[in-house]
Amino acid sequence: MGGACDLAWLNPFARTDPLVSHPDFFEHGALVAVLSTQPLGRALDYRAPEGGCHLGAFVEVPLGPRKVLGVVWGPGKGDYDLSKIRHVIRVLDAAPMRDEMQTFLTRAAAYTLTPLPAMLRLATRAPGLGDPPSMRKIYRRGDAQPNKVTDARRRVLETLDEYGDLAFTLKELAEMAGVTASVVKGLVAQGVVREEDSPRDLPFARLDPDLPSKTLTEDQAKGAAALAQGVRAQRYATTLLRGVTGSGKTEVYLEAVAAALKAGRQALVLLPEIALTEQFLTRVQERFGAKPAEWHSGATMTERRRIWRMVGQGQCQLVIGARSALFLPYQNLGLIVVDEEHDTSYKQEEGVLYNARDMAVLRAAICGAQVVLASATPSLESWANVEAGKYQRLELTSRFGPAVMPTMGAIDMRGEGLASDRWVSPTLQAEVNKRLERGEQAMLFINRRGYAPITLCRACGHQIGCDHCDARMVEHRFLKRLICHQCGESKPMPEACPACEAVGKLAPVGPGVERLGEEAAAIWPQARIATLSSDMYGSARALKAEIAGIAQGAADIVIGTQLVAKGHNFPNLTLVGVIDADLGLMGSDLRAAERTFQLMRQVAGRAGRAEAPGTALLQTYQPEHPVIRAILAGDEEAFWAAEAAERKQAGVPPYGRMAGIILSGPDVAQVFDAGNLLARQDGPLRRIGAQVYGPAPAPIARVRGRHRVRLLVKAEKSAPLQEALAQWVAQVRLKGEMRLAVDIDPQSFY
Ligand code: ADP
Ligand code: ZN
Repeated sequence: MGGACDLAWLNPFARTDPLVSHPDFFEHGALVAVLSTQPLGRALDYRAPEGGCHLGAFVEVPLGPRKVLGVVWGPGKGDYDLSKIRHVIRVLDAAPMRDEMQTFLTRAAAYTLTPLPAMLRLATRAPGLGDPPSMRKIYRRGDAQPNKVTDARRRVLETLDEYGDLAFTLKELAEMAGVTASVVKGLVAQGVVREEDSPRDLPFARLDPDLPSKTLTEDQAKGAAALAQGVRAQRYATTLLRGVTGSGKTEVYLEAVAAALKAGRQALVLLPEIALTEQFLTRVQERFGAKPAEWHSGATMTERRRIWRMVGQGQCQLVIGARSALFLPYQNLGLIVVDEEHDTSYKQEEGVLYNARDMAVLRAAICGAQVVLASATPSLESWANVEAGKYQRLELTSRFGPAVMPTMGAIDMRGEGLASDRWVSPTLQAEVNKRLERGEQAMLFINRRGYAPITLCRACGHQIGCDHCDARMVEHRFLKRLICHQCGESKPMPEACPACEAVGKLAPVGPGVERLGEEAAAIWPQARIATLSSDMYGSARALKAEIAGIAQGAADIVIGTQLVAKGHNFPNLTLVGVIDADLGLMGSDLRAAERTFQLMRQVAGRAGRAEAPGTALLQTYQPEHPVIRAILAGDEEAFWAAEAAERKQAGVPPYGRMAGIILSGPDVAQVFDAGNLLARQDGPLRRIGAQVYGPAPAPIARVRGRHRVRLLVKAEKSAPLQEALAQWVAQVRLKGEMRLAVDIDPQSFY
């Protein structure tokens, strides 16, 4: 159910705030309210078990015939037949949830209009979190060499070499190496792999904040001192740390981390694209002498459990994580860094719809921690919060060392006379040639995965679409499949057109990263070309290896999607060619200009990181477009001011509030009926001066076989939007399989 509204939870404001004083211990038999992760309308009453239980204790309770996980949320309500109330089965062996976490979950649920159980699920995503400490077998590299090196054996050794400092269970090691358990066992028998008994959850190695840092520039030192002082004050504040790519933002915020560690507090660094953070981990290790915990969906179950427990026991000082790391049970959180704070991946678009950047600020405000939002191209939201005096602002104005920002230029495609199935203009080609002659790297950027966005039948004009969504299937020639980027459904490329059955008439239309790679190979047959797209590598590890190779010069031309725009350091790269700078400007997204500006600046920032100066060239059919001009001029303040003025005028975020309502279900008429009903019964919204738009079919009107209808609510900045929304949507009864999801501050409108 996730973010879908369970109507019973829709008045979270009526509940008492957990910070309001409760007893913090309940004697055996006392009534306690236990919140479970099950989709129930409320916390249920139970009796405290023998030995009593603390407020916040993680417990196992009976629910019908099942046993479920829950948290002692407060005293029982006592409004249920007392004779029927059952006992808590047991208190789990985990540190009780702290008040501040209860408050955080409650407020985050209220803000995002998410049922509290769904929020609690985010905070309990560690397998076996209540199991007692125990021993288990783990596997490491032994001293012996294998008598015979098979492919499978080599993969095991490679995995151990790469992740040697992690503890693997047999299953995990076999899975990561892609071999059967018996291969590992065979290596154990030869002493190549060692089997050890180990406590399940090892504390993390201590990080030493007193190791020497790099010598900071004056700018950097000033920034670092300001942040460190904030951390030492142990009060909440948010600072926007702005500086071009390569200006040393990371160096600066690592000093804030050092200050937190020195003060005995925990720190969290949120990064987008968490699976690709090797360079960052190395830097942490260099600065503090040991690796931090890495929390993300790719971490093994064992590792997740270990992190959850160690964070809760204060035996983990620094977590590097994806957005869900915000929900770990920190004991003493002093600092949250949100790196690349403008990145759209901080908004979770499925299940609980929350923005990790905003929730980081909420979390920190509750526990008296500092927040650092780092970016070269901050979101307009953060920019406006600085203007309003809510956030402080720190600037790093120059790149570190000799590197300077790249020279920006446009290639006016109207004058290039390019064939319709070619994408690299003669001008760009000539520029790439120059780099190749000088032995430098060039990058071609296109923000489209796959081979071609459209597959068209030349006989009947049919475009191949997804059977479950109103979306085109995208050809991925590398995988030899058509893939729906909406639902992930894939099928082999057909020989014949599914509509008219003509054979051999299907043709790709438009460019994707793979097709661009093909074109580049034709233009530069001698060059070493690396195409980087997430779906071309079987694992994050293979992709990481590829990126590391490129950084060391293993490619002359790098071709990539958005993936390459993020934080990778290619010292020899001096030219970035953006194949289609106009792409992001199409469509009706209110942030189209902002996103294009950010992405173009960021991609351009890949060029010229070391001694050689860089150039970024934008292929565009509309060089006079104000956004393209702003990007070329590099006058960020002017761009943001103009963008801000426009949004203010329109009363849209960050100067007004918005919420999206997505109704979905298998029956299109039912979905529209519910949408129309909502639109008519807009009393609760009118009372706060908000307007409703819609219902309208969502731009992608069907996903996974469910029809989707959107409504959009606009309100003034100060309007109590959530309360009104809660009352408003509570008026409709959802029949059958229908769902209603509320998206506060929507980022995408599909
Ligand atoms: P940003 O996070 O702003 O992109 P980084 O912190 O990654 O910038 O710095 C860019 C590069 O410059 C990194 O390789 C970093 O180690 C180096 N660097 C930055 N500041 C210093 C410094 N004061 N001394 C030495 N190297 C530095
Ligand atoms: Zn689909």
